[in-house]
Amino acid sequence: MNNATDKVRVSDHPLVAANLSVLRAKQTTPEVFRQRLRELSVFLFVEASRAWQTKAIDVETPLAAVSGAMLANPIVLVPILRAGLGMLDGIQQIAPDAAIGHIGLYREAATLRPVSYYDKVPANVAAADVLLLDPMLATGNSACQAASILKAHGARRIQFLAVVACPTGIEQFHRDHPDIPIITAAIDPRLDDHGYIVPGLGDAGDRYFGTG
Ligand code: URA
Repeated sequence: MNNATDKVRVSDHPLVAANLSVLRAKQTTPEVFRQRLRELSVFLFVEASRAWQTKAIDVETPLAAVSGAMLANPIVLVPILRAGLGMLDGIQQIAPDAAIGHIGLYREAATLRPVSYYDKVPANVAAADVLLLDPMLATGNSACQAASILKAHGARRIQFLAVVACPTGIEQFHRDHPDIPIITAAIDPRLDDHGYIVPGLGDAGDRYFGTG
């Protein structure tokens, strides 16, 4: 791997590109933003789950026996509060058995470092395929901290799902967590002085919750 973007999978699905464009557009209402984020998250989930292990099972159709498959491991979804919540809905529709953890982080004014104010992680996290959810991989600080929290709880197979990432965040994340793949819809070129991804889509939490 020569640069940070080598370890990142960017979805090339046309519906991901179409949904992302609606998310980016400043005139998109919170209602439509929520709907498109839900849809796009499902595609990222499908991309992440592509490599998950299955185990063989015997199935009886009405006509005959056939060998089938089931997922070998439980699924744990962990949104980083609060914008990560927006990625949960759609994924839960197609993975209703997934257990849900939550990680809350705030940025300390003096150091600008993320500080954890809440984490609740399912007990089966060590055995699970774990997806850490945050729409924006910007500076990478929150993502790094959240991944460390998950590992401290015993998580071993983690993937990070972001709608938009940028090189700064990817480099920072893979410096701390080179074992965690990133799946995203886009890699945008840069951060502005306030840590927003440019062009990005603005503040994902504000746009999702209508608080902007
Ligand atoms: N968080 C957001 O919501 N948007 C950004 O661009 C960066 C961080």
